[in-house]
Amino acid sequence: MTAVAPLVDRFGRVHRDLRISLTDKCNLRCTYCMPAEGLPWLAKQNILTTDEIERVARVLASLGIIELRLTGGEPLLRPDLVEVVRRLSAIEGAEGPLRISMTTNGIRLDRVIDDLVEAGLERLNISLDTADPTRFATLTRRDRFEDVLVGIRAAQASGLRPLKLNAVAMRGVNDQEFCDLLRLAVAHDAELRFIEQMPLDAGHTWSRAEMVPGEEILEKLREEFTLTPVGDRGSSPAEEFLVDGGPATVGVIASVTAPFCGACDRVRVTADGQLRNCLFAREESDLLGLLRSGGSDEDIAAMVRTSIAGKLPGHGIDDPGFLQPDRPMSAIGG
Ligand code: SAM
Ligand code: SF4
Repeated sequence: MTAVAPLVDRFGRVHRDLRISLTDKCNLRCTYCMPAEGLPWLAKQNILTTDEIERVARVLASLGIIELRLTGGEPLLRPDLVEVVRRLSAIEGAEGPLRISMTTNGIRLDRVIDDLVEAGLERLNISLDTADPTRFATLTRRDRFEDVLVGIRAAQASGLRPLKLNAVAMRGVNDQEFCDLLRLAVAHDAELRFIEQMPLDAGHTWSRAEMVPGEEILEKLREEFTLTPVGDRGSSPAEEFLVDGGPATVGVIASVTAPFCGACDRVRVTADGQLRNCLFAREESDLLGLLRSGGSDEDIAAMVRTSIAGKLPGHGIDDPGFLQPDRPMSAIGG
């Protein structure tokens, strides 16, 4: 396909960042994401194949996408992950090969990290919400804290930088240990990002009272650290601070209390090939159906453009009529 106009929506937002979910399955059961018993998993035949993922990414790269984040579910559970990364990192975008990153819980990362780096993976975000092994087991319903640490150490040793750790802030769960988490991150040469908990849990039990607002997270961190604002965040969702003068940084992603929708440059594809223009979108476009019914690259591009044209200005969590999306975070792809 020849290069065409970029993906601009009605509000002037140019879309450059694609998130692809590689699977809806996971080896953890984080309470804010999945129910204890798991979910009705997607049928295997409905999961995008590697060829289909590559094709979608190639068409989106021709529309101006330059960054691609692999997520899930747990992307490390995808057996052909290294091949997926190899193929995607070979796709040329407007600014050179697509930059490939991945969000993972880190379990078993040590076994594949060298292959992933060799295949072209550039950056990693590893999720860890607590520095306490017992709390980890309660929170994720799996006793795998040590396995995650092994993954974090492997990431540290890999030299992939910046290495980021994601922690969802939860009242009465981990709000007494924000400083411990920051120390753990700094000790592993990682940048910690606290995320406000969003209404994306499978049980639809999110409540504002249980969410810790970004301002409160910063207040707690300031009890033990000096935080200096880093300044211009561009389209990054995180407000960043130098920790004790740097070079370590910490960030807060205040998606609920200080939405950054006005700078959103993201588009998402679920593991079953549904295109979403927002995490909170209540509508999806059926890319999978289009791919499997002989749609051309131009048809795919047209579907993406129509979806982006329909993108709302914001997630509307504060609107009286707000409705949580039917799919939980694990099935959308965080
Ligand atoms: N399994 C991988 C992991 O946990 O990193 C990738 C998928 S997970 C859905 C992606 C990110 O979304 C994780 O950092 C996770 O903590 C975050 N997340 C999941 N549910 C969330 C919620 N309700 N609010 C805020 N963040 C959430
Ligand atoms: Fe799995 Fe990630 Fe969801 Fe936790 S947040 S249950 S690790 S998909």
